[in-house]
Amino acid sequence: MTRPGTLTALYPGSFDPVTLGHEDIARRTLRVADRVIVAVAAASTHAKTPAFPLEERLEMLREVFADEPRIECTSFEGLLVDFVRESGAGFVVRGLRAVSDFEYEFQMAQMNREMDPDMEFIFLTPDVNLAFLSASLVREVARLGGDVSPFVSPSVLKRLRATFGGRT
Ligand code: ADP
Repeated sequence: MTRPGTLTALYPGSFDPVTLGHEDIARRTLRVADRVIVAVAAASTHAKTPAFPLEERLEMLREVFADEPRIECTSFEGLLVDFVRESGAGFVVRGLRAVSDFEYEFQMAQMNREMDPDMEFIFLTPDVNLAFLSASLVREVARLGGDVSPFVSPSVLKRLRATFGGRT
């Protein structure tokens, strides 16, 4: 739970798996919040079967943020609005890579706002070198045996190798 006077940000996503782009957004959020809760959504908006089960996605997140006590990793089921209230977060953070992200993010924010008028969203842009990166592209390249070492942390790379084999 959040202590009074502490500004907490909630960063929800599917993180299948966590990439350097996600890491960049979560660490950047610490510039505007005291702590960040990175939360894996059990009911993903991407209807596809995930490459990694929820527990493993959470383990990978905990591994990559093990050095940062201000970042806590968890998962949630159900509506984001309910979890925001439950966690005591002051706002939700999302990453914006390009105009292509905007429409979906805008719709999601407005829909959540309909359900809870107090809900605030903050959108952060990643380092320019990470702006093209998506978890789905990482999965695709790994599945086809390509090298994804520039896009994920070493602990995530190990899991990708275990899951997909090849040169990943
Ligand atoms: P993805 O879109 O990679 O499958 P998620 O559904 O887990 O990832 O996305 C969670 C949030 O992280 C979204 O707001 C998404 O726009 C953002 N995000 C994902 N990759 C990046 C990146 N490379 N740079 C900035 N934000 C990102």
